[in-house]
Amino acid sequence: MDLTVAELRDTPSVGIIGGGLAGMAAAAALAVRGCRVELFERRKHLGGRAGSFHDPEWDAWIDHCPHVSLGCCTNLADFCRRLGFGGAFARHRALNFIGPDARRHRFAPSRWLPAPLHLAPALWRLRFLSVDDRINIGRVVVRLARPLPANEREQVMATWLRWQGQSDRAIERFWKPVLVSALSESLDRIAVPVGRKVFTDGMMASRGAHVMHLPTEPLYELFHRRGGDWLAARGVALRLAVPADHVFTAGERSGGIVLDTGSRRAFDFVVLAVPWHKVRGLLRAALLARLPEMAPMARFESAPITAVHLTFDRPITPLPHAVLPGRLSQWLFAGGAEEGRRRYAVVISASHELVGTDPDALAERVRAELAGAFPAASRARLLHARAVTHPAAVFAPLPATEPYRPAQMSGVEGLFFAGDWTATGWPATMESAVRSGYLAAEGVLRALGRPEPILAADLPRARLAGWTFGQ
Ligand SMILES: Cc1cc2nc3c(=O)[nH]c(=O)nc-3n(C[C@H](O)[C@H](O)[C@H](O)COP(=O)(O)OP(=O)(O)OC[C@H]3O[C@@H](n4cnc5c(N)ncnc54)[C@H](O)[C@@H]3O)c2cc1C
Repeated sequence: MDLTVAELRDTPSVGIIGGGLAGMAAAAALAVRGCRVELFERRKHLGGRAGSFHDPEWDAWIDHCPHVSLGCCTNLADFCRRLGFGGAFARHRALNFIGPDARRHRFAPSRWLPAPLHLAPALWRLRFLSVDDRINIGRVVVRLARPLPANEREQVMATWLRWQGQSDRAIERFWKPVLVSALSESLDRIAVPVGRKVFTDGMMASRGAHVMHLPTEPLYELFHRRGGDWLAARGVALRLAVPADHVFTAGERSGGIVLDTGSRRAFDFVVLAVPWHKVRGLLRAALLARLPEMAPMARFESAPITAVHLTFDRPITPLPHAVLPGRLSQWLFAGGAEEGRRRYAVVISASHELVGTDPDALAERVRAELAGAFPAASRARLLHARAVTHPAAVFAPLPATEPYRPAQMSGVEGLFFAGDWTATGWPATMESAVRSGYLAAEGVLRALGRPEPILAADLPRARLAGWTFGQ
């Protein structure tokens, strides 16, 4: 039974566990709608996985890993705008593929053709693929956009692409760079509907969907400092470096949060916004038994991402970013520059085989690849390198787990879940995290008897795209 406002104190209280984007989005939405919000974050900083470290070499905050958003990420954009830093992202319409021969191929969808036809000229210009491969890729992209029969929805992308007649080269040079970097998982561990989503919503639905948005400031500055200031100014009590131990119940509903210190805090509502591999640990056995949706979570698997940060004594390319198909290094992002030095980050998603590798050997391998891709890199001196693998960067979008992502509203009154792993329809991204926080906030408002839509609208779908998707 939902509570009415009269049954609660004048200002309903909400305890949020987790200060990543999911917890922050829920806090932001509820604080401006009359709730008294207290947020507990185990670390010293807000932002969770979307965070930065302080690099003594540069005396600057540097993102653990470059974070990319796309034009289709309307909720992340809404969140950043509300918190006052919507302008801190640079838009990039074109991707730069560096072919095996070190030549640059611009993937720049047409500004004039309607979606999804706008992609055709860009695909055609990827001349490191044979004409047959380009035609076949185009055919399969269109096929992917159509509704898929049940037996195909249960497959993984690697099998499905083979079955669609994609060549080794097309898989290595096109499908891998696009899907592995978007979903941070290898093709044999990506459920077909998730791969389909990348192409439909992330590329084909509208002309602006694919546009890359890259932060122009460190994530620490955006989410921790500016985001934290905004939340605090709206009355959110930010409890940093305060880990929660578990959620307690009061009768049939959730009663509040027990902190690591043993202190017990009562709340009308609790939003549990921790990562997928932590959530069950914050629920005691008796509560878990009342949450059957949590059982499949024990089978959720993680995917690693590796970031290699390199400082050279000069620029190695004028490009702000580049895709490096057919190599271990998948993406290059240019970072800060100072007289006599230039910083870059190389991202390797689904880096299963790199977990536990010697970071220096890995940095050397990446440096050698960059020297092959950019002639200037072979003349540049590497001043500093740091390779970090995040073993549980995202949850794996496996066919066996995707259907079991739990809803934000739990089976126990007063308890909500948020996090990129909840049922948002989106892969593990900042967009999914913000959506989940907004959806949890919508659930709290519904339970208070004052439902209100918080989720931002998707980009309008081009008419021709809707027809292509068969919807
Ligand atoms: C290396 C890497 C690269 C990525 N690249 C991209 C990208 O390019 N684009 C993109 O969109 N996404 C990217 N992502 C994914 C993105 O960062 C996440 O999807 C998003 O930040 C998840 O937000 P969240 O709030 O759901 O979870 P989290 O960020 O994990 O937040 C959960 C919070 O809960 C806290 N917590 C855990 N236990 C407790 C406890 N007991 N008490 C209190 N607090 C607790 C944690 O400290 C954390 O701050 C990347 C992730 C990684 C790791």
